[in-house]
Amino acid sequence: MKILIDNGHGIETPGKRSPEWPNESRRLFEWEFNRDIARRVHETLTQKDIDCELIVKEINDVSLQERCNRVNTISNQVGKTNCMLVSIHANAGGGTGWEVFYTRDVMTSQKIASVFSEEVTSRHDTDFPFRNRGLKYDPLFILKHTNCPAILTENLFMDTWDDFLFLCSEKGRAIIADIHVQAILKYLKTVLIPEE
Ligand SMILES: [Zn+2]
Repeated sequence: MKILIDNGHGIETPGKRSPEWPNESRRLFEWEFNRDIARRVHETLTQKDIDCELIVKEINDVSLQERCNRVNTISNQVGKTNCMLVSIHANAGGGTGWEVFYTRDVMTSQKIASVFSEEVTSRHDTDFPFRNRGLKYDPLFILKHTNCPAILTENLFMDTWDDFLFLCSEKGRAIIADIHVQAILKYLKTVLIPEE
């Protein structure tokens, strides 16, 4: 099983950043956050001998179509049932919490999304005290136009203060990366050892 990691948006993507908070010099740029989490997830999975690949190694914006092409090229090589895509994002729009999207190959993608969601819920009272907004079916471009199971995580809201602080902190980033790693490991277990 090959794990493909997408870290949407590039350095020149307009918008996709936190507000400039009064009296705060920190500002979060989504391209940087996504890449940092993707790098951590890729590094940890690789250390665990799991076949894992970053779809976007550049810091520049790579179009959604090109990112889909890259995923589909790999998916066609290894077989679409032998790979899965996780696209990592931070949310905006004034809410709070975590959510996950799925579209294509509904059964499998929904199952992967469920494993992620369960991981988030299980950590609510320990290290991830944020609302789990749950699974959402949405034909987002990267989910719709890739041919392997795919999910997209929206990790907290850049424009909500408590979420923002967590997204900026080293501890918060380590936890968000670990949620992805643990969920992927749990999902892989269900694939390798199918339920009776
Ligand atoms: Zn995004």
